[in-house]
Amino acid sequence: MLGVYIHFPYCRKRCPYCDFAVHARQTIPQDRYADTVVQECAARAPLFSGRRAQTLYFGGGTPSLWRPDCVERVVAEIRRTFQLATDSEITLEANPDLLPGETLAALLKAGINRLSLGAQSFSTKSLQLLGRLHQGETIRQAMKNARAVGFQNISIDLMFALPEQSTRALDRELDQVLALKPDHISLYSLTIESRTAFAALVRDKKMVPLEDDKQAALYEQIQRRLGEAGFEQYEISSYARPGKRSVHNSNYWRQGEYLGLGSGAHSHRMIDNGGSERFSNPRSVDDYFAMTFDETWPSTKFGSYETLDRAQVEREAIWLGLRELDGIDRRVFQGRFGADLVIRHGPVVDRLVEQNLIYVTNERIALSSRGVLFADEIGARFLSEP
Ligand code: SF4
Repeated sequence: MLGVYIHFPYCRKRCPYCDFAVHARQTIPQDRYADTVVQECAARAPLFSGRRAQTLYFGGGTPSLWRPDCVERVVAEIRRTFQLATDSEITLEANPDLLPGETLAALLKAGINRLSLGAQSFSTKSLQLLGRLHQGETIRQAMKNARAVGFQNISIDLMFALPEQSTRALDRELDQVLALKPDHISLYSLTIESRTAFAALVRDKKMVPLEDDKQAALYEQIQRRLGEAGFEQYEISSYARPGKRSVHNSNYWRQGEYLGLGSGAHSHRMIDNGGSERFSNPRSVDDYFAMTFDETWPSTKFGSYETLDRAQVEREAIWLGLRELDGIDRRVFQGRFGADLVIRHGPVVDRLVEQNLIYVTNERIALSSRGVLFADEIGARFLSEP
């Protein structure tokens, strides 16, 4: 499967916890950025020749700041180049502010059929802390507008594990998100990334991250509440109503191929010897505009480039595959890598089973309910095993 990702790097301001490849701008070169992405798409297409794209995803940054006619041009270009089917999942990340009905209707007309609303919180105090420009009421209005114009697939992003967050405060957040009846919810814990304003506050002891055991308790509360509300947890941070899993994100966890266009965007392509290539564009939009889309790409000259051999691809397949709660299908793994996972990685598997972090059946290997809390550490053990 091929997924296409378009990175839109502009935001109105940088949030204090964010380390993404973004630029805070009041004036955005809307057409120039669309022209460059379209030009890049044409230049990159031969690297993925013969593939049909199954999904398209506009991430950022704040792609809802892109004029809908620019979005429409890019959608049309991807459809033409990669035969993207009309009913394919086409997602756009949107901030709840600045989403009037006309903009949403124009995005729907442009081909967007799935919205990912960056709500983050409904609490005025938390939204202020996170440096967000909207209010709880703005989220409700955006959701209402989106449903009114005809969006039938809407995901809401929320953050949890904010400093001092209590179980009661989280309950209030969950009550409000469930009242909006989204199709999908992503819940991310606040991570303090180095080189952010939050990292400086933590360093200066002006902010105290929530303790690990409290974070774990909130995570279990989320699993329980969303499960009771009819959401299926299918990945560490992702919960969906039946039939509404994110197809685009599932492709990442299944190690599918993807083409990333735009500044800072990452791509992944399988190569003949069972290995793969990963490469990215420069994070700076000025460097991206300065790129020449010729045979020098992919290379380390612009952005990053690395190859993975077959053994590295196999380990990454386990690391990524365990993020999905269904885990890894042992028969599929054997077909792909020529050996049973449990036999090939026996010592690590045995230790993790003993520690009750994963479970193994005849068909699959997956994280246990305790293991879900330590997914990153478990994945790292497969990546670093001797
Ligand atoms: S809106 Fe999103 S991408 Fe932009 S700075 Fe805030 S968190 Fe980062």
